[in-house]
Amino acid sequence: MLQPLGPDGGMPSGADCLHAIELQGLWHRFPGRSGGSEWTLQGIDLRLEHGELVGLLGPSGCGKTTLLRLIAGFDWPERGVIHLAGREVAGPTHCLAPERRGVGMVFQDYALFPHLTAWSNVCFGLKHRQNSARAAWLLNLLGLSELAERYPHELSGGQRQRLALARALAPEPAVVLLDEPFSNLDVEVRLRLRSELPTVLAQCGTSGLLVTHDPEEALAICDRVAVLHDGRLHQCASPQQLVHQPATSFVGRFVLQGNVLPAWWQGSDLHTLLGPVPTLSPSSPPRQRDPEASLEVLVSPDDIEIDADDSGAAKVMGREFLGRTWLYQVEQGDVRLRVRRPMDLPLQIGQHCGLHLRPTAVLKTFPADSSLQPTLVTT
Ligand code: ATP
Repeated sequence: MLQPLGPDGGMPSGADCLHAIELQGLWHRFPGRSGGSEWTLQGIDLRLEHGELVGLLGPSGCGKTTLLRLIAGFDWPERGVIHLAGREVAGPTHCLAPERRGVGMVFQDYALFPHLTAWSNVCFGLKHRQNSARAAWLLNLLGLSELAERYPHELSGGQRQRLALARALAPEPAVVLLDEPFSNLDVEVRLRLRSELPTVLAQCGTSGLLVTHDPEEALAICDRVAVLHDGRLHQCASPQQLVHQPATSFVGRFVLQGNVLPAWWQGSDLHTLLGPVPTLSPSSPPRQRDPEASLEVLVSPDDIEIDADDSGAAKVMGREFLGRTWLYQVEQGDVRLRVRRPMDLPLQIGQHCGLHLRPTAVLKTFPADSSLQPTLVTT
């Protein structure tokens, strides 16, 4: 359970601040913002250990870049404290300039100096310009030694992003912030570069905070993943924990790509629009028999049976070919579900069908989102 401080809550103490990054009760809003919550970030608490790679995962507009900008020093949090390597860099009374924070940045669009060679781009970031040994080491680490004399426009997208990483790491930052660094790269380059990132950071002894909206990317390479939604941190946990114990229905829907269905009690059985729930996850909350209780269940796309049925209540709205399976988008009432089935099931778009839960399905229950308080995310 993550319980941030309120916007008017007491300021946290500076004790125990020897983490690479420590965010305590961060609140931020942009002037003149209207619609939805006025707060872009709401009470963010997050710690990165030294040497850790943490993914900051969430949908577009949830506040990922805003959080990165606060850590880098481009913006000042309205409330809360930021410590970097034990040093307070932003708080109620002061805000250290970005160049004095010892943070490296890697952006989606590389942000290299176009008039400098690869070598000079890396040397530009060195604390002591004469320390060419580190520049040579970094170019070698990132497989760019042969390309040191080339200008950015003479490099491929993947090579440019490697160079951007080398330049960010040159001044030996304690932390590097990466804002969707792989999103401009083609699939093959993206997969290669992302699998190399943890090793490169480990070799440099640098912690990383990696912004991404791709759950697969975050789960694949990060030590822990922090899931952000509408400015609130829903869960920060290892990839394994996120998959097996999603803290909220949003985490289940966004990270696991699961279906979240409303559920209600009928006697001692929990029902959904797909019928009674066969088995609840052992980690689910104790069964509430209150017929008025508003619950949600998380259902994997693999746990729904689908059969062609001209009188069925559901309708296939779309389908994607995933190589070995089909992923169907199916609508029943006002609920849209994802259903994954083997290749041998030839359902066409527009076809009516029947849906039901597989008897072996194990579902996890959540309280309805409406029970989440503005400053509190709870399981
Ligand atoms: P994406 O994945 O699309 O880059 P994000 O999670 O990084 O999104 P942010 O860029 O942090 O999202 O934006 C969070 C919210 O704050 C959005 O609603 C955005 O419109 C708003 N926002 C960002 N910058 C400003 C600004 N300078 N002024 C006003 N609103 C802003």
